[in-house]
Amino acid sequence: MEFKLPELTYQKNALEPVISAETIGYHHEKHHLAYVNNLNNLIKGTPFESMTLEEIILNSDGGVFNNAAQVWNHTFYFNSFKKGGIAGPKGALADAIDAEWGSFDKFKADFNNAALTLFGSGWAWLVKDAVGKLSVIKEGNAGTPLTKGLTPILTFDVWEHAYYLDYQNRRADYLAALWEIIDWETVSARY
Ligand code: MN
Repeated sequence: MEFKLPELTYQKNALEPVISAETIGYHHEKHHLAYVNNLNNLIKGTPFESMTLEEIILNSDGGVFNNAAQVWNHTFYFNSFKKGGIAGPKGALADAIDAEWGSFDKFKADFNNAALTLFGSGWAWLVKDAVGKLSVIKEGNAGTPLTKGLTPILTFDVWEHAYYLDYQNRRADYLAALWEIIDWETVSARY
């Protein structure tokens, strides 16, 4: 099937000043779109054409995997935010974070540290395993927890294209600001 760039659920300027409309413009309409277009070109006339995005991710490597995983990762990332954010995790996710880290602040510090110390391009992830236990992992390049049988709950994109226009080399400032726009209602429902 032909994949399409998913539309954002908010206006391009909705996440300002944390993420500028200019960054969203490049990130969504250029980078995310390029992964979609590359994937469609790469799978044309191959068995991947009849697979879902998740099936492609689990059954491919090289360029097909990289582009498919980047399509999935970006859709998941963009769907984690909302104008003004929604304060704090809720329900079962809030309980699971407390059980694992003792407090939301400790979890935040752990997550930020993973995102900050990831060398080069990649993603920081909050994931749950088959029994609901949470952990923070980092994945380089197009890496995604889907290939490890883990369920993604939250991710921060730490490729430079995600923050360079707004924060230049200050990845830590970008990470600190992202917490203000998380849609915890949507994120909590993933747990
Ligand atoms: Mn990105």
